[in-house]
Amino acid sequence: MADTMKAAVLHGVEDLRLEQRPIPRLERPEDVLIRIRAVGVCGSDIHYYRQGRIGDFVVEAPMILGHEAAGEVVEIGPEVANVKPGDRVAIEPGVPCRKCEACRTGRYNLCPDVVFMATPPVDGAFCEYVVMPWDYVFPLPEHLTFAEGAMMEPLSVGFHAARRGGVTVGDVVAVLGAGPIGICALQACRAFGATTVIITDPVPQRLDFARKMGATHTINAGSEDVAARVADITGGRGVDCVVECAGAPNTLALGLSLPRRGGSVVVVGLPAMDSLALPVGYVTRMELDVKGVFRYANCYPRALAAVAAGEVDVQSLVTHRYPLDQALDALLFADEHKSECMKVLVEN
Ligand code: NAD
Ligand code: ZN
Repeated sequence: MADTMKAAVLHGVEDLRLEQRPIPRLERPEDVLIRIRAVGVCGSDIHYYRQGRIGDFVVEAPMILGHEAAGEVVEIGPEVANVKPGDRVAIEPGVPCRKCEACRTGRYNLCPDVVFMATPPVDGAFCEYVVMPWDYVFPLPEHLTFAEGAMMEPLSVGFHAARRGGVTVGDVVAVLGAGPIGICALQACRAFGATTVIITDPVPQRLDFARKMGATHTINAGSEDVAARVADITGGRGVDCVVECAGAPNTLALGLSLPRRGGSVVVVGLPAMDSLALPVGYVTRMELDVKGVFRYANCYPRALAAVAAGEVDVQSLVTHRYPLDQALDALLFADEHKSECMKVLVEN
């Protein structure tokens, strides 16, 4: 095997370079070397490219972007038993410490020491090879594609949101925002048993797509009164759960007004401003459960099972494909043609 590989490395704001990097080696007995085949472009990759930072995470040294990844096992350490060379796998991109309170209580997404791909200073997967410990590597069922493997990452966000919202059979859910995360949340809620899923977005193409992906009702957030439509659809009762996936300035405030008494609001979207006024009296009187969502924990196995069983369609999320050599074009296209694309994939 060669010593170096191609990688798309972010050096600073709007400075992405295709470079040769050393191929990572197995370091621990639990390590797996994976040849990357498909990586989704995420909003966070675009954000790091455009701004060089997301909140407190600042790109201070060159970093490989990309974290929604799938590939093929090349080499395994002596302690690896779940995969063997040649296996096709989905990669869960965050490896926690396994020792802290968050890890030990099963909420490892909250580990303060998590090592998460393409989050400074950790390298991501817009490259040819990565090394991961075996417990963050999941074999793909025979009939699943690398693209579907890569889409387990955003789908896991949707699964975690549905779980946090307590979504169950017969529920009425409103998903605000029909981007890739909103579509994953929509499908997760359906898979969890929600029978009515209302989704909102100002972009008509995204609403059309959401209908194909199982939304029972769509509301154009740009031209319709969302609260009035939701009241109409639910006969004035309100929804069991709101999943905020837009991250727009007003969507969370709107979202707080949509649940039934005792309903829940799950916050996935990240608005540009970090705080907003909370209608405390209303939230208290209605006894709303307002919950944050940070990535996911323990979601990959079930998300994979749901896709394998045909209960969730993530293949259709992928609308555009670029080779690794054109990772920059992939990022730019995803950023500049939002209404035309859902998920852009980098393949190699
Ligand atoms: P996206 O930008 O593709 O999708 C957002 C969608 O919201 C777009 O389709 C946009 O048209 C729509 N929108 C804008 N204004 C709206 C409004 N007023 N009402 C309804 N919809 C509106 O982004 P994405 O990749 O789907 O991610 C969605 C959000 O989730 C982002 O804020 C992202 O940062 C966040 N996110 C959070 C986590 C987490 O762990 N909490 C993980 C991944 C993504
Ligand atoms: Zn930990």
